[in-house]
Order: sequence, then structure tokens, then C-alpha cells
Amino acid sequence: MSQEAFQNPARETAGGLLRIDLGALARNWRAVGARTSGAVGAVVKADAYGLGAGPVCAALHGAGCRDFFVAHLVEAQRLRPSLPADSRLILLNGIPPGGEAACRAAGTIPALNSLEQVAAWSAEAQSRGEELEAFLQLDTGMSRLGISGEEAALLVREPERLKGLRLLRIMSHLACSDEPENPQNARQLAEMRRLAALFPEVPVSFANSGGILLGPEWHGSLTRPGLALYGGRTTPDREIPVEPVVRLDLRVIQIRTVQAGARVGYGGVFVAPGETRLAVLSAGYADGLPRSLEGRGAVWFAGRRLPLAGRVSMDSLIVDASALPPGALKPGDLVEMIGPNQTLEEVAAAAGTINYEILTGLGGRFHRDYASG
Ligand SMILES: *Cc1c(COP(=O)(O)O)cnc(C)c1O
Repeated sequence: MSQEAFQNPARETAGGLLRIDLGALARNWRAVGARTSGAVGAVVKADAYGLGAGPVCAALHGAGCRDFFVAHLVEAQRLRPSLPADSRLILLNGIPPGGEAACRAAGTIPALNSLEQVAAWSAEAQSRGEELEAFLQLDTGMSRLGISGEEAALLVREPERLKGLRLLRIMSHLACSDEPENPQNARQLAEMRRLAALFPEVPVSFANSGGILLGPEWHGSLTRPGLALYGGRTTPDREIPVEPVVRLDLRVIQIRTVQAGARVGYGGVFVAPGETRLAVLSAGYADGLPRSLEGRGAVWFAGRRLPLAGRVSMDSLIVDASALPPGALKPGDLVEMIGPNQTLEEVAAAAGTINYEILTGLGGRFHRDYASG
């Protein structure tokens, strides 16, 4: 659910408090920069992975970032007016069919992902009588976006296809960068080198967060980290010098004590084993907390782990708070879902998904606090 769906609800009454540390975000961007020799961009698609593209871009621009990547044209259109003029805004999903004029009007630099997009952008440049900038995306083995090796060779043989275009970067994307041992990483690197040699004057943009950790061979002249900037870990067993950026606390609505045998929540799948103190929390799957947390998820309060009791509802979930002394937890209190006791990665693992999906799903009904400390 997008942040725009609701005006930022009041801190005191919102169902949850999402704290975003823009200082940590900027430090993470610099930490990535310290590991790479080329320039470092920032992937801010999907509303900066759910954290708010406006404040995220402002903080990163302040830290020195000038290359911002979005996926959809609508994201570029929303973001461009607030982005300082010295920033480049690159459209990863490329030009939607018929969207050339809109791309140009939005001041974006498309990643050209097919020969059709190359032709359309070149035609737009010629009809306007101006040079248009572009990234050229090559498919080096992911089979998602980008032109094939044969198509790249065709562009070299028939350079008039690129008329009116200024290629700023040759780019490609890694499919398995979160698995350092996966041989596909080296295969994609070899293919990238082979294809990039066709365009010797154009520098390369290759690595995402995981790719940066693979090693300098993968970096190219402009890296495109997303997840690492937001404090996400890409590879569980490898050190990455980033700090957490997000903290999520959920509001207690009600405390109740039930007796042995009481059925809790939808489907009655949780049955109280004895007298049980329950806390009902004001967030559910509509806020991005997946139903798959059932049976495995938990929140934390005063150093205690409070496991979920039963299913996640749309707007609420129930935890077993029996580990706390009576009266310790009251309506209005906040309990930790993501924070010092429970990482984003642990929540994702409990839900059977990845940190990316949890981050981008965090809902618009939380109060958002941007700290720049
Ligand atoms: C999303 C994306 C990235 C950023 O990936 P992270 O793993 O979040 O660092 C980089 N490049 C492309 C093409 C992407 O789609």
C-alpha cells in the first residue's frame, strides 16, 4: 500500500511507527562508495523500497549521489520536480510503448532494453532535433530486460540505429549476486566484458548491492545499490558495512487474558495451552506484515520475545504476551517488529520471504518519522 494513500497519520495514534534513519542511509551510501572505485548511484524504485523516495533522494543527494534509478515512468514523473537539476534520473524498465515524449518531458534517461526502444528514442531525438541521453541495457544471462549479444553486434554494424543518442552507460543486471558461489556470476561477468568491448568508448554500469560484494571486477564505472543503502543484508554470511535504516514498532490496541482451550483469531488455529495473556496489535497484512508470519513471527517488548498467536488479520495481529509480568504492556504501548532485537532479515525469514519484499510492502498507515541523526 503506497505511502500516498494516507496522509502521514499522527504519531500518537497511528497503528505503527516507522522510523527511517536518513543519517544511516547517507552513511551506508558512503560505505558502499568506500568499497568501489567508480561512481555510486542509488536505486530508489518502488518509493525507495517503501521508505519514501522524496526524503531518501534528498538525503542521498546531500551525501553526494547524483545518479538515481527508478523502474516505472510514473516514479520518474513524481520524483523529477523535487530532484535537484544536477541529478540524473534513469528509468530501468525503459520506455513504455508510445511513452517517448513523456520520458523526455519527465527529464529521464531511459535504459534502452530492446531494439524497438532504441529505434523509438532515436526517432524522438531526431524529430526534436536534439541529442538524447540513454543507458543501453544488455542481457548477459538473466533473460529479463536488455538486448541480446546479436542485437548489440547489429547496433555496432549499423550505427545509424543510434543516431541522435548519447550512450552514457552500457548496463546489465546480475541474477544471482546474492549467491557469491553461484557460477552464473562469473558467466555474466564474462559476457558483460565480451559485449562491452563492442562499445569501447562507453563506460559500464553492472553491480547492484550483491554485485558490489562479489568484487571489483563486477563494479564497472557506476554501481547501482538499492537494498544495501536501506540497511538490508544481501548475503547472510558475508560482511557488509551497512547500518540498519528502518525501525518498526506496532501499537497495542487491547490486552486480554483467555483461559486454556480458548481459540484465538481467524480459523481458531491457535488454542490457548493454559491461561494466556494476549496483546492485540494494530497492524496486519494490509500493512505489509504477511500472513505467512503465522506460527513463526514475533514481536519484542522489554527484552522479551512475544510470539504471534494464530493468523495475521488484515488490520491486526495477536501475540502471546504471557512472558511479561501482568500490567507490563498496556494499550497504546509500542512493541518492536523490526529493530535492535529483531532484524529485517529475521522478519523476512519468519515470513518465508526476502527482506526486499518486507521493506517494499510496509504500509501507508504507519506514522513515518525521518531522523537525520
Ligand atoms: C533493483 C535493481 C537494482 C538494485 O538492486 P539491489 O539488490 O537492491 O541493490 C540494481 N539494478 C537493477 C537493474 C535493478 O532492477
